[in-house]
Amino acid sequence: MALQIYNTMSRSKQDFVPLEPGKVKMYVCGPTVYGYMHIGNARPIIVFDTVRNYLESIGYDVNYITNFTDVDDKLIRKAEEMNTTVAEVAEIFIRAYNEDIVGLGVKPASKNPRVTESMDLIINFIKALEEKGFAYESGGDVFYRTAKFADYGKLSRQNLEELQFGIRVEVDARKENPEDFVLWKAAKPGEVFWQSPWGNGRPGWHIECSAMAKEYLGDTIDIHGGGVDLQFPHHECECAQTEALTGKPLSNYWMHNAFLNIGDEKMSKSLGNGLLVKDIRQRFKAGTIRYFMLSTHYRNPLNFGEEALISAEKSAERIALAAGNVKHRLELAAPEAGAAASGELTARLQEISSMFHSKMQDDFNTPDAITAVFDWVKLANQALADEETAPADFAALLEAFSGMNAVLRLVPEQAADQTDEEVEQLIAERTEARKTKNWARADEIRDLLNDMGIVLEDTAQGMRWRRK
Ligand code: AMP
Ligand code: ZN
Repeated sequence: MALQIYNTMSRSKQDFVPLEPGKVKMYVCGPTVYGYMHIGNARPIIVFDTVRNYLESIGYDVNYITNFTDVDDKLIRKAEEMNTTVAEVAEIFIRAYNEDIVGLGVKPASKNPRVTESMDLIINFIKALEEKGFAYESGGDVFYRTAKFADYGKLSRQNLEELQFGIRVEVDARKENPEDFVLWKAAKPGEVFWQSPWGNGRPGWHIECSAMAKEYLGDTIDIHGGGVDLQFPHHECECAQTEALTGKPLSNYWMHNAFLNIGDEKMSKSLGNGLLVKDIRQRFKAGTIRYFMLSTHYRNPLNFGEEALISAEKSAERIALAAGNVKHRLELAAPEAGAAASGELTARLQEISSMFHSKMQDDFNTPDAITAVFDWVKLANQALADEETAPADFAALLEAFSGMNAVLRLVPEQAADQTDEEVEQLIAERTEARKTKNWARADEIRDLLNDMGIVLEDTAQGMRWRRK
C-alpha cells in the first residue's frame, strides 16, 4: 500500500511520490516569536513532527525546515511594551519555543531560518518579482500585483471577484487592487529597519516563507504544512510569489491541520495563561499531550479541556506502563544469542505492525494507529502475566513497540532524543546564568535537564553529566 496524503490543492487524497527518491523536502510555517506558544500552536507542531517521524520511519531522509518570524508589527509592539529591542524579544521567545518543543517530545527542525538573518534572500526575491512585473513600489512600500498572476486563489479556491467582494473595503490609495498584498513595508520613524532598493523598511509576512523554502529546499518542495487558517491569505500568497518567479509549483502536497478549540471558541493568543504550553507541560507529560493531540485526526477539529487531558493521561500511562514492564523484564533476563520469539507472538506482532502502517499510510490516521498500539498493550500484558514467556518474546515485543513509538512518541525514549550537543548547550547556558546570578534561569535549566533525564554532577574536574 502506498502512502496517501490529503492534498489541500486537489482536495483529495493522493499517492505520495517524492520529487527525489528517498528524500522529502518539507516546510512548515513557524511561529511569530512575540509571545509564548499556546496549546493551539502546539497542534501543527506535534502533527507535522509526527508526519516527519513517520516518513523517517519508512526510510525517507527528511529535510524539515520551519521558520521563525522574528520581526513584524507584533514584535515591534511587544518590544515597546517590554521596553527592549525587537532582537531581545525574539531571543526570549525563541528560547521559550525551543524549551516547549523539548517538553512536547518534538525533534528540532533541520533548520530554523530567521527573517532577520534572511534579508538578502528576501530583498533579492522581491527585486526579481519587480523585474518580472509582479511587484510595484508605492510610497516606499512594495506590493504584489495579484491581477498579473492568473492562478491567484487556486489553493483557497476563490477567484479574484469573490476575493474583492470578501475584502472589507479599506481605502488604500497606494494599492492598484485591494487584494494586492505587501512584500516590503517602509519603516515608520523609530522602527527597526533594513536598507533596500525601496528605502528603509522590513519585509511583509508572506515573502519570508517563499524566500526560505526556495533557498533551503528548492523551487518546488514535497510537503508544505501549517494550520488551516494559513490557507488564505498566507499560503495563497506564498504560491503567488514563488510560482510567479519560478514558473513551477511551490509544493506538490499541501497539508493543513484543523483548529484546536476551547469550548466552541477558536483559540487565540489573547486567551492567555493556563493555555500556554509552558504551563500545561508543568502538569502533563509530553506523552500525554501528544496522545491528546494525536487521538484525533489532524483534519478534524479538536476540543481542548482539562478532562480531555486527564483522560489522555490515563491512556498514555497505560501504554507507558506496559512498555516499561516489558523493558524491565528484559533487564532481568536478556534473550540468549540467536533465540527466536514464538511463532504465534511473531504473527500477532506482524498483524499489529501492518495495521499501524496501513492506518498511518491513510493520510496519517493517528487515532486508528493508536488503536494498534493498544492491541500491542493487550498482547504485552498477556505476555507479562505469563511466567513462561521467554526473553526473546519480550525482545520482539519491545522492538515492535519501539517502531510505533518512534513515530508517535507517546512514551519518552529516555533522553536519547536529545543529542549530546543539545545537552551541552543547555549546560553551558546554565553555567552562564549562574555566573550572571540569574538563578531563576539556572533553576529552570536544571529542571529542564531533569525532565530530559539528565543528571548533573559537580566534580572536582568541573560539571559532568550523564543520562539517568
Ligand atoms: P500563529 O502564531 O498564530 O501564527 O500560529 C502558528 C501556527 O499555529 C500556524 O500554523 C497556525 O495555523 C497554528 N495555530 C494557531 N492557532 C491554532 C489553533 N487554535 N489550533 C490549531 N492550530 C493553530
Ligand atoms: Zn509560511
